[in-house]
Amino acid sequence: MKTIAIDNGHGLNTPGKRTPIMLDGKVIKEWQFNYPTAKKLGELLKYNGFNIIYVSDTEEDNPLSVRTKKANDTKADAYVSIHFNAHQGVWGNHGGIETYHYPNSTKSKELVGLIQDELIRETGLRNRGVKSANFQVLRETNMVSILAECGFMDNLEEAKLMLDGDYQLKCARAIAKGICKYFGVEYKEEKKDIDCSSWAVDAMEWAIELGLTDGTNPKDPITLERFITILHRYSEALE
Ligand SMILES: [Zn+2]
Repeated sequence: MKTIAIDNGHGLNTPGKRTPIMLDGKVIKEWQFNYPTAKKLGELLKYNGFNIIYVSDTEEDNPLSVRTKKANDTKADAYVSIHFNAHQGVWGNHGGIETYHYPNSTKSKELVGLIQDELIRETGLRNRGVKSANFQVLRETNMVSILAECGFMDNLEEAKLMLDGDYQLKCARAIAKGICKYFGVEYKEEKKDIDCSSWAVDAMEWAIELGLTDGTNPKDPITLERFITILHRYSEALE
C-alpha cells in the first residue's frame, strides 16, 4: 500500500498568508483553504486504497523541517503540499493554478504534470502551467513531491473560492486523480453520503441511480409538486 504525506502549508495565524481585506471587511487565511482541502484529499485517497499521513495536522505552523522529516521517517511514497497563491497582496486580475516540482526531478515532474492537468480540468481556472522551484518541502523530501497553488488569494473571484467546500473538493479530487494515475490506480469516484435512515438506504440508492432524486434532504415532507415530479421522472426513466 502506498503512503501519501499531506502538508497543509501554513498555520492558521502565519503572518501574511491571507487575503487583502474583503468587501465585507474580513480576511480569509490561506490555512482556511489548505487545511480542509488537505483533509478532503486524505479522505479521497484513503477511499482509493492509499495510506495517509498528515505532516502538520494542526492550526500551528510547524517548521517545514518537521514536516519533511515526518514524511521521510515514515518512508512516504509521495509528498503533497497544498497552497493558495498570492501575487503582491493587492487585488488584481492575475490568477490561475500552478503546480511545482523540484528542478530536474523527472519523477516529480511527471506527477506534477498529471496533477496540474486534473486541477485545470476540475476547476476550469487559468492554466499557469507546471513550474519548478527550490522550495524546502520539495528539496528536503526523499520521495516524489509536489506543491500546488490552487488559485490566488489576491484575486477577488478566486479568493471567494477558498471557503467554498465544493471548490476545495474539486481541488482535492484533482490531486487524488493525479496521484492515482501516477501510481497506476484506477480512480474510484466517491459515493455521495446519503444521510437517510438505514432501512431506506437501498431504496434511496435505487432512486438516485434512476434519477428520481439526488438524495438530498431525505427527511423532508413530500409535497404534491415533489410527488408529481418524482412520478414524472419515473415514467421518463421507464421509457
Ligand atoms: Zn502558501
